[in-house]
Amino acid sequence: MSEPWKVSLHGGHSGDFCEHGSDTLREMLDAAVEYGYSTFGVTAHPPATDPKFLYEEEVEAGLSVIDLAQKFNDYSATCAELVSQYSDRIEILRGVEVEVVPESSFAESAATLRIDYNLDYVVGSVHWVDEMPFDTSQKDFDKALANRGGLELFLLRYYELVGEMIEQVRPEVIGHLDLPRLFSEGRSELDSDSVMKAVYTVLESAKANGCILDLNVGALSKGLASPYPAPWTVQLASEMGVQFCFGDDSHSVAQVGAGIEAGRAYLLEHGIETITTLTRENGTIVKKIVPLR
Ligand SMILES: [Zn+2]
Ligand SMILES: [Zn+2]
Repeated sequence: MSEPWKVSLHGGHSGDFCEHGSDTLREMLDAAVEYGYSTFGVTAHPPATDPKFLYEEEVEAGLSVIDLAQKFNDYSATCAELVSQYSDRIEILRGVEVEVVPESSFAESAATLRIDYNLDYVVGSVHWVDEMPFDTSQKDFDKALANRGGLELFLLRYYELVGEMIEQVRPEVIGHLDLPRLFSEGRSELDSDSVMKAVYTVLESAKANGCILDLNVGALSKGLASPYPAPWTVQLASEMGVQFCFGDDSHSVAQVGAGIEAGRAYLLEHGIETITTLTRENGTIVKKIVPLR
């Protein structure tokens, strides 16, 4: 059944436009309708602008930066068509999940994508530190850590990059705020004094820039104990008045809607009674507060 709080602002990565996704975008949207989403944000990964930022599976598929640019172009056109085809059943938003690479020009790339493709909104995520991917495998994670001199130093740089991304890109949504937990869950550095301070600074910036935090339930399907972000961060964000919205981070039909109920219970447990979503109103995208019960 459709409920107003059944919203995902991060996901819809399909096999059509993403090498590590499966199922077609149309199949994913059908699944989103079936789950009862009121709004489903599709946030494709951006095309790499330099071959050194291609993901392993893109290299294996023999894709070039030109192919990826073409694919993003196709995504944008296809998704725009689907937005209107599905509009009587579900509100689909057409977005992108931007990156922080290259570090010298990511903000320009994000702005270009937003404008050139007239996207509804942007999710800002950090998947690279020192231009090294860290959420792709434990091995990649350990390599990125070694490069920084350990987990705490890595985390401090990670949150610094999140802060720079917020200030420079001003995304509507901040993706999976404590993503490094994926390969470091339970380690004490995650909530050391200096890391907590860094998170506080990021949250202040999120609040000042009106960003919504992605309560990303994809963490659950990856075996983590709680969604991103961790309980203490949810608590802190809530005390600071930073808003949340759900993201299923779906990369297949099976992941569409999975974990959203658990995410709702998680927010309610922390005393959070509303989420903030995005919706189309008179041709523009506006924020909307939705009760969780
Ligand atoms: Zn992905
Ligand atoms: Zn992501």
